[in-house]
Amino acid sequence: MKILIIDDEPFSQRLLTRQLARLGFTDVQCETRAQDALALLESGQLQPELILCDLQMPEMDGIECLRNLARIGYQGELVLISGEDLRVLQTAEKLAQVHRLDVLGALRKPVTNKQLGMLLARKRPHVEVAAATPAKTYAPEALRDAILQGRLVNHYQPKVNIATGHVTGVETLVRWQHPEDGLVYPDRFIGLAEEHGLIDALTRVVLSDALRQARRWRDAGLDLHLAVNVSMDNLAVLEFPDFVTRTARAAGVPLSALVLEVTESRLMKDPLASLDILIRLRLKRVGLSIDDFGTGHSTLAQLRDIPFDELKVDRSFVQGASRSAALQSILEASLNMARQLGIKTVAEGVEDLDDWSFLRQVGCEQAQGYFIARSMPGGDVQAWVADWEQRRWPQLGSGA
Ligand code: C2E
Ligand code: CA
Ligand code: CA
Repeated sequence: MKILIIDDEPFSQRLLTRQLARLGFTDVQCETRAQDALALLESGQLQPELILCDLQMPEMDGIECLRNLARIGYQGELVLISGEDLRVLQTAEKLAQVHRLDVLGALRKPVTNKQLGMLLARKRPHVEVAAATPAKTYAPEALRDAILQGRLVNHYQPKVNIATGHVTGVETLVRWQHPEDGLVYPDRFIGLAEEHGLIDALTRVVLSDALRQARRWRDAGLDLHLAVNVSMDNLAVLEFPDFVTRTARAAGVPLSALVLEVTESRLMKDPLASLDILIRLRLKRVGLSIDDFGTGHSTLAQLRDIPFDELKVDRSFVQGASRSAALQSILEASLNMARQLGIKTVAEGVEDLDDWSFLRQVGCEQAQGYFIARSMPGGDVQAWVADWEQRRWPQLGSGA
């Protein structure tokens, strides 16, 4: 594996090179100035699989270097190194992720052999990455046709109780079955739907399909809570609670089995109408979940003003919490607050055993994420639940 070290201190370069050699990595090149390193990368003269980058450098600093690595489309992995305190390193790591760089981790100087070894053990086998093609954008008319012609399909992602392993419910995640592009993910069309007044129609289709699916699960003996995402724009139509009631009744699913996950991507257009609608839904026993808690407009003020009964901690506070004191404080404070308000807690984006074990330790009630299951078609849920209960959960057992 070819490795590039970008660090202005010769001493630190030598130390890292020696440590890497001890771990069996001998194809190492050092650059003292980030500009020179970037020039070599950009011209293709140098194609490392891994870059170790110092944050403090006199000319172009590490943060500027990150930005440039993103600009030239660097596809390898990255380790950040700095003498600064851990918070600075961790925020730099986040920044690199926002730049869509593949960050293996961050190390504080002086780097020990053990830390470096542990980090490199996380290195994924090298895979050829296809040149990133810019995501296609869609015309609102195409989306409108898709909604009307039934080309939206729901997938469902399980939520489980961390203490008991019980599968508590599923979250509905919509996809667009596109004739040319295959399965298109919601990040590419929800914003479009909101901007062009299509979100109401979209949500109604998603909700009706999901409730019909919930009916089939119930008929098969699966008593799952059904979560559906709604955007604030859905809560501008005063008739919405009646639509929800009618649709649930037609499907034969009690309103108390339905949870609406509310995300606020933009400021509420009409706070009074939204509040009116949310309170009426709550009075009908529909569950209300504050989604992506801790980000955007999903804040304490919302928790104060809206009768939520579930809090979904955003995955940016969940992933890596077992390794970050700052994330731990934020996560624990959010969970404590939810407990004191008497509302349920869900952690989203749980990707590995470390996250899972940590959540269990701090008493988060439910978890959702790739560690448990990816989203799946409605028809696969029953078999997944059986497998989880009979095989996966017993293996995780009480120790994990
Ligand atoms: P969200 O509500 O935060 O939903 C969770 C997203 O995270 C889903 O992406 C899910 O596949 C993904 N995810 C789940 N577990 C993990 C994990 O362990 N790691 C990582 N990195 N990601 C995980 P998806 O399906 O692409 O949905 C994206 C967003 O689109 C959703 O975010 C939700 O806000 C929105 N959305 C989806 N369906 C609907 C809908 O019917 N209506 C509205 N208004 N929004 C929707
Ligand atoms: Ca959600
Ligand atoms: Ca979320």
